[in-house]
Amino acid sequence: MTSAKENLKEAVLWESGQDRKVRCKLCSHRCMIGDGKLGRCCVRKNIDGVLYSLNYDKACSANPDPIEKKPLFHFQPGTRSFSIAAMGCNFQCDFCQNWQISQAALEDGQIDGQPISPEQIVSAAVRSGCESIAYTYTEPTIFMELCNDCGRLAKQKHLTNVFVSNGFMTREAIDFAGDWLDGINVDLKAFGDDYYKRLCKARLQPVLDTISYIAKETEIWLEVTTLVIPGENDSDDELKNIADFIVSKAGADAPWHISRFHPQYKYLDSVPTPLETLERAEQIGKAAGLHYVYLGNVPGAKLESTFCYKCGRMLIERVGYHIAANHLKNSCCPDCGTKVAGFEL
Ligand code: SF4
Repeated sequence: MTSAKENLKEAVLWESGQDRKVRCKLCSHRCMIGDGKLGRCCVRKNIDGVLYSLNYDKACSANPDPIEKKPLFHFQPGTRSFSIAAMGCNFQCDFCQNWQISQAALEDGQIDGQPISPEQIVSAAVRSGCESIAYTYTEPTIFMELCNDCGRLAKQKHLTNVFVSNGFMTREAIDFAGDWLDGINVDLKAFGDDYYKRLCKARLQPVLDTISYIAKETEIWLEVTTLVIPGENDSDDELKNIADFIVSKAGADAPWHISRFHPQYKYLDSVPTPLETLERAEQIGKAAGLHYVYLGNVPGAKLESTFCYKCGRMLIERVGYHIAANHLKNSCCPDCGTKVAGFEL
């Protein structure tokens, strides 16, 4: 007879409590989980007083993507990133774009995927000419065990590692990934706790803490994304608060991606974000002092490209996720010599 925990991967970052309960320390929900119960993400389970990952050997996506698609615009531009995911999430966003894989475990306990080993993932990344591995599509924190094993192996093969994250990870989780994580795009979805509670079943402050901590205490390259939803987070005040926060905690060089919303999942009674709203957000970001503000989900927009913030010269020309031209010389503007911040530009 096989036991329930056979073939399961023991989770990282948890501690024992009383009565065979365990405390998960991976994300800021910090679930206290009783014996036989699941954490809030439904992909971590307490079995006999030990916490296990239920999605370790269940990769549900594996594709070479342009790194620009993450989006990471100042991180190895023009390269490809082998992008993997496992089912589950610690948020329940009404407007999730990947709800089929992020919410299935929460809605009906479904955790599908292929048993692809870290060795196979890293080999596939090398074979497909990728320079990094991206842990993306769903929240990577909740498949940290797979990220950790892949990430360490990837470093040995001279690949970098990037997260696309909702930023709800704990400080312990950031430190845990610090040896191998090179870049991250954190969603700062809004600047109101009410928004996070109502639309994501989460909280704002841990996300702010993550951005501050990564920017100030780690070497991880950081970019920030805000999905702008009409009537929810598109006021001047809200956008200014976000831009001011990024400038003060992450610095003027941190790229801010303002992304266009399209109705998704449970959030269908809205229109896509008007282009004028995104352009207004861009102006607010620039006025706050940010050097690099980009529009996302607007193919062909001029503001997909990188311009020198001092002299205005176009530096990296993008068409969608494609780099049409990179004029940087030693990471600097060829006209005025201003340095552009980033990772291997
Ligand atoms: S990852 Fe977060 S939601 Fe999942 S069990 Fe741990 S603390 Fe709870």
